[in-house]
Amino acid sequence: MARKKLSPESGIADVGPDGFITPSEAVPTPASVAKGAGQGAAKTAKNVLKAREPKTTMSKTAMPDAAPLKTGGKAPSKTMAGMMVARRGKQRAPVPDPVEVAEIFRRFEAADPDPQGELYSVNTFTFLIAVVLSAQATDAGVNKATKHLFAVAETPQKMLALGEEKLRDMIKTIGLYQAKAKNIISLCRDLIDKYNGEVPDDREALQSLAGVGRKTANVVMNIAFGEPTIAVDTHIFRVSNRIPLAIGKTPLAVEQGLEKIIPAQYKLHAHIWLILHGRHVCKARRPECERCIISDLCHSSEKRV
Ligand code: SF4
Repeated sequence: MARKKLSPESGIADVGPDGFITPSEAVPTPASVAKGAGQGAAKTAKNVLKAREPKTTMSKTAMPDAAPLKTGGKAPSKTMAGMMVARRGKQRAPVPDPVEVAEIFRRFEAADPDPQGELYSVNTFTFLIAVVLSAQATDAGVNKATKHLFAVAETPQKMLALGEEKLRDMIKTIGLYQAKAKNIISLCRDLIDKYNGEVPDDREALQSLAGVGRKTANVVMNIAFGEPTIAVDTHIFRVSNRIPLAIGKTPLAVEQGLEKIIPAQYKLHAHIWLILHGRHVCKARRPECERCIISDLCHSSEKRV
């Protein structure tokens, strides 16, 4: 493991029982985004200038001043507040401006060059288990249980030896603990039987394990194996549709949209930056726009500055 303090999947924690989003995080329609873009347009000139002096932080750390918007010599479009518009059927769907997207991630990187998550783990295996446990649970809640669990079972063999009943007891403070205990035991058995006790660095192989879906596999590929995958959790889903970076009705659609729009140099950490932004600033019910470092680049109708 490259890192001991791994994290980003607390987003999984808030995933609703329907899959990913809560009612308060409905996908914006092109019309609502356009409305937001229109509101943004009224403030564009002022905000573009303000881009040179953002005043807030992404999370708990102080943010450096943002550099002037890099446009490659080309001024950002002022029409539709910098949004390009593509015709899709009878509706006009907003498409993020690549120049603005690049600037958003440049600022995220400047503010937090080495983003870290909060899930506790001691190796790749325990990180996988922590991510599986974090579905519909908070990172803090998972860490509370895994601190003791990983002290006695940090390998698939030891977890299997622990047994389902004992495991269930050790994670009983975590939501859905019964199903999770069952999955983890099955997962450990498969790791030992099929992968020599090692966590496979292959998305399909990961997804073949009990309790591991596409999002969990993407998190493990990204954090444990350094692959530039983007796991769309509830925070990323909301933020991507809201700014917007990638509009989609499903996590997969958003993931594919982000894959296309995020510059390659930012893909490795994009997942964590977006989760941290959604968790600490662009919150579901009341986004803290006044301390948002990309507010001048956001076209959301929910923007409050
Ligand atoms: S916090 Fe506000 S300004 Fe920033 S991205 Fe979210 S909605 Fe936009």
